[in-house]
Amino acid sequence: MDDDSKFTWDDGDLVFNAYTEQPVEHLDVVILGAGISGIDAAYHLKTRRPQDRFAVLEALSDFGGTWRIHTYPGVRSDSDLYTFGFGWKPWTGVPIATAGEILDYLGEAIEEQGLGGHLRFNHHLERADWSTTEQRWHLAGTRGDGEPFAMTCGFLWMCQGYYHLDHGYTPDWEGFNHYQGQVIHPQRWPEDVDLSGKQVVVIGSGATAATLVPAIAEEAGHVTVLQRSPTYFWPGPNLNELAEMLRPLDLDPALVHDIVRKKVLYDQQMVTELCFSEPEFAKQALLEMLTPLLPEGYDIATHFTPRYDPWRQRIARIPDGDLFQGICRGLVTMVTDEIDHFTEGSIVTKGGQELTCDVVITATGFDLCVLGDVAFSIDGEPIDVSQSVTYRGLMFTGIPNMAWVFGYFRASWTLRADLVSEFLIRLLDHLEAQGLHSATPALREADAEMAVGPWVDPADFNPGYLQRSMALMPKSGDKPEWRHSQDYWTEAQLFPSADLDDGCLQYR
Ligand SMILES: Cc1cc2nc3c(=O)[nH]c(=O)nc-3n(C[C@H](O)[C@H](O)[C@H](O)COP(=O)(O)OP(=O)(O)OC[C@H]3O[C@@H](n4cnc5c(N)ncnc54)[C@H](O)[C@@H]3O)c2cc1C
Repeated sequence: MDDDSKFTWDDGDLVFNAYTEQPVEHLDVVILGAGISGIDAAYHLKTRRPQDRFAVLEALSDFGGTWRIHTYPGVRSDSDLYTFGFGWKPWTGVPIATAGEILDYLGEAIEEQGLGGHLRFNHHLERADWSTTEQRWHLAGTRGDGEPFAMTCGFLWMCQGYYHLDHGYTPDWEGFNHYQGQVIHPQRWPEDVDLSGKQVVVIGSGATAATLVPAIAEEAGHVTVLQRSPTYFWPGPNLNELAEMLRPLDLDPALVHDIVRKKVLYDQQMVTELCFSEPEFAKQALLEMLTPLLPEGYDIATHFTPRYDPWRQRIARIPDGDLFQGICRGLVTMVTDEIDHFTEGSIVTKGGQELTCDVVITATGFDLCVLGDVAFSIDGEPIDVSQSVTYRGLMFTGIPNMAWVFGYFRASWTLRADLVSEFLIRLLDHLEAQGLHSATPALREADAEMAVGPWVDPADFNPGYLQRSMALMPKSGDKPEWRHSQDYWTEAQLFPSADLDDGCLQYR
């Protein structure tokens, strides 16, 4: 591929690159996003395809994505770092890590693997247009200084995450705009929050609420957690017994990481299978873990018994049961009820309770963002990705040379990032070996009658942010080739052996 193609793009308003009169840079691969997935992709590309010229475009001014923008008190992972961390860089800390520890780990990974030179911060990608004649993507966006940029690439590897980083989801409650107290969404935690002595209501029941509440309980006057319905929690000490046992033996940290990771995966597989084969048993086992951590006679049925079977939404780890300590010490009260309306200084529930509050923290979740809000087109014709069917949960029918990383909900996100990376390296090798330029997923004749449905079956996994916005997501078929499976253990078998010439990918 040549480096010096001159390209300008006139859409009526803007002529990208024309003002610089510079030739547009061409790269073999562009990775979008320098979060944990983008760093994983960059590692695989650099080590496995050193011949490729690539860059990681990132809108923020630094790496880390999720772990950079979430700064609320206590922010931490809710799954273990042996599996959330990379397979190729040992995790040597405790299983549940703070955002700061994760950023340090990612920073070390960038340094050790020499990825820094590939990262381009303050580059917000806005448009991607595939040129069929040129067999490449034309990319355009805006830099942090407000100047436009343009470039082309052969393959677009989307590691853009799954939600808008600049705002969270806040429901439209009656009277909310009349409320006079302070409102904070954990996704945008202000630097100067002073909760001392204040009556705080945290709205939400998920991992964010469970993480935040213990971290503010000491400082606040009182914290009330107002949840519509409960979530499953998994309390336990923040240590991994096998790792603790192996570490003093002076083994290679990579070996310890590998063994502990495999054991964690094995245990998680057992738990996941149990949740589906014997949901009632799994449910009782999870609830029984809470009894000794809560005051005697505590109403677990109301406040900690979800309405769904285990693993239909994420189960959050609660290291050392810190959430429950706050309840035992009277610092935290759980209220399970629906919001009826807000007044100037309180929340009134449908059950008739009035919760006076100086501060409301809306731990109400994410606002789903599909493909980083990039406007995709092919030869100038806009693409609606929600009308496409996914190829193995990573590419899309009708869209050439573009893949995204969408991780697991039930297992660590990064496990899938690794599988996707391996697959794409194989695909890029295949294209190169055959002298081909592009791969485009397309349903085969044999798929014509295939049932096509939502991205994820709501009976299988149903968190609020997906249910609210499922219509924006690509569709899934009922064959393994056309699905995003939530099962890491199945995909770990399927991906490496997936036949690249089974007709699902059309090559040029
Ligand atoms: C508080 C919290 C805790 C979590 N804990 C866990 C956990 O323990 N285990 C787990 O599996 N998952 C967890 N998750 C989910 C988590 O978001 C993912 O697992 C993972 O961090 C996603 O990484 P990512 O790199 O794919 O996306 P992100 O971290 O969202 O990064 C995407 C990056 O892409 C950039 N980007 C997006 N669009 C554009 C664009 N158009 N132009 C340029 N750049 C763009 C963004 O700026 C961002 O930096 C947690 C989420 C939160 C919020």
